Amino acid sequence: MPYRRCGKSGLMLPALSLGLWHNFGAIDNIANARAILQLAFDSGITHFDLANNYGPPAGSAEETFGKIFKDDFKKYRDELVISTKAGWGMWDGPYGDHGSKKYLVASLDQSLKRMGLDYVDIYYHHRPDPNTPLEETMGALDLIVRQGKALYVGISSYSATETEAAIKVLNGLGTKCLIHQPRYSMFDRWVENGLLDVLGREGIGCIPFSPLEQGLLTNKYLNGIPADSRAAAHRGNGAMEENAITPEKIEKVKQLNEIAISRGQNLAQMALSWILKDDRVTSVLIGVSKPAQVTDSINCLNNTSFTAEELLRIRNILESK
Ligand code: NDP
Repeated sequence: MPYRRCGKSGLMLPALSLGLWHNFGAIDNIANARAILQLAFDSGITHFDLANNYGPPAGSAEETFGKIFKDDFKKYRDELVISTKAGWGMWDGPYGDHGSKKYLVASLDQSLKRMGLDYVDIYYHHRPDPNTPLEETMGALDLIVRQGKALYVGISSYSATETEAAIKVLNGLGTKCLIHQPRYSMFDRWVENGLLDVLGREGIGCIPFSPLEQGLLTNKYLNGIPADSRAAAHRGNGAMEENAITPEKIEKVKQLNEIAISRGQNLAQMALSWILKDDRVTSVLIGVSKPAQVTDSINCLNNTSFTAEELLRIRNILESK
């Protein structure tokens, strides 16, 4: 596993990190969750990404992780980078959502309890909150670092302009923004429109989520929707819906699949390599439903360079109407 420096910080992250959004909730099989985490760590994936609301139900992914951490990972705490987040709706009433200091501080205390940790390595504000002053939200992140409850802080889904503003406030407070977690895949390239430039210029790391567009950028939906797929699961909470799979998208997936095969990869691997080709990206966040997908995805590292011709062909497919 190659490790890449996170922006201009001292922290190195694995080229692939594992997210626990799906498949780690109370409704999921804990033996499968354990097998995924063990295989990931044994393969050099030293970074696990959580959030207060991962499940379902919300909070249960942190509980599952806490159980497995206690049994299997406690002695490896110093070999792990564990992150969590708050920013989406988590509990009833006015204090369990958005970006207030009240929410961010209370939520991290709850997350630490669920995971059985003294501190997290990275704490994120999960999404921008236009109604809370940025000084308050960033002030909460700064406070949490000073309290020793997080070593580093990050932001997720902030636009390029919002990111510049957040960086400025955090710099003023003396707690640098370590990393940004944006959505980024071949099908969603908004970060190329300014955000990656800001992160590169400011020396902030970048860890894209949903790089496979929740599984669409693989060969699994080429002949319909398999019963054991995320699209068939219909679990709400931002999960992939069957209607995300349009004939136009599948046509592009077919064409991309051919390029992947010509590179000696499958489409999932090419989609991950395509993200990692940019050296402003520190790590790519994978989500998996079974251990075999961990190994399959890591094998993207066998070919992370693209010829100019391959990039052009991919671009033409992505931009075709
Ligand atoms: P992906 O886009 O990579 O989708 C993961 C899904 O793709 C898997 O569940 C699986 O689907 C399928 N898959 C994965 N690997 C393979 C493979 N090698 N071959 C075939 N299919 C594969 O990522 P996620 O959407 O899961 O996001 C990853 C992580 O990013 C999350 O766990 C979370 O930590 C983070 N995230 C952060 C957000 C934020 O707001 N900051 C929002 C969303 C995610 P199947 O179940 O069908 O097998």
